[in-house]
Amino acid sequence: MKQSVFIALALLFCSALYAQKNIEAIRKQTIEAHLSFLASDALEGRQAGKPGGRVAAEYIQAVWKELGIKPFFNTYFQLFEAFSPARDLGMDFQVHPDSVAKYKQLPAYRRLTLQNVVGYIEGKRKNEYVVIGAHYDHLGIDDLLVGDPIYNGADDNAASVAALLQIAKVFAEKEEKPLRTILFACWDGEEVNYLGSEYFVANFGNTSELKANINLDMISREGLLPTLYPDFEIPEATAENTATGRQFHLVYTEELAKTSERLRQAIRLNQLRVEPKTSVMIHTSRGSDYLAFSQRSVPILWFFTGLHPDYHTPADEVHRIDMDKLLNITRAIYLSLYYIANED
Ligand SMILES: [Zn+2]
Repeated sequence: MKQSVFIALALLFCSALYAQKNIEAIRKQTIEAHLSFLASDALEGRQAGKPGGRVAAEYIQAVWKELGIKPFFNTYFQLFEAFSPARDLGMDFQVHPDSVAKYKQLPAYRRLTLQNVVGYIEGKRKNEYVVIGAHYDHLGIDDLLVGDPIYNGADDNAASVAALLQIAKVFAEKEEKPLRTILFACWDGEEVNYLGSEYFVANFGNTSELKANINLDMISREGLLPTLYPDFEIPEATAENTATGRQFHLVYTEELAKTSERLRQAIRLNQLRVEPKTSVMIHTSRGSDYLAFSQRSVPILWFFTGLHPDYHTPADEVHRIDMDKLLNITRAIYLSLYYIANED
């Protein structure tokens, strides 16, 4: 065989291995429609425990019902409560039974009612779970703010929920039954203290059945990857720690090193207009909902385009989203889920 023919055949084989025709089914208009609703002023910043947050949860549930994705519990909603001491207005809400018991001894304490929204597609190996998750809550409204008082949280994290809804649609309508069971999870209370993901994992039962967590949090802008350690300090921006243009941060724990390399090749072969900047995560890093999983040694893949000046301000609005980047990153996430859910 001529060398050129051999190379051509090898390339064809690789493309067949990596190419996924269903990425075309992930559409920009649909993602934008979900995003525009979730980040609209009508949802008042989707604060945990407030009416706008509940509307977001109802919306997610309605989409999954229509797609035929099954509720993971008796219903799609996993209802739970979090508690904090009376005077604490900060981030100290807890779901751990020891903290809850302690706070309930106090003469006064604060209670927050929350809900995760979790659906699933059953795999051939029923009890091997891949959890793809994104928090849907954000910071709500600050009545004292002069000007725009609504924290719309378009990048943080309506864009990720929109991506998740589109990916779920492709798996529900186009794909064969996966090897592993896929859980589609929208977490509540991330902005408070990672409450929803912590509650879910703490009450899951046998966490060795959780084979991976794909975490989506802020995937549609450009910005900085802070050093991943407990204090979450924000460093000076440099070319090394900033994702610009088509770049995104692909953060993973060691077990998924091969998967992330495979994803890099798949992105190229599918001609997606995004480019991963990879970082290895240590198991106890704070920062997003992967924390509850990584603390129990579940392998993590985190898609993140970085911190930017609009982070946690009312300026995190839909018109500032890079829709082309969001589309391409959604397709890349879909590929990563496809591999993790189907390969040995
Ligand atoms: Zn977030």
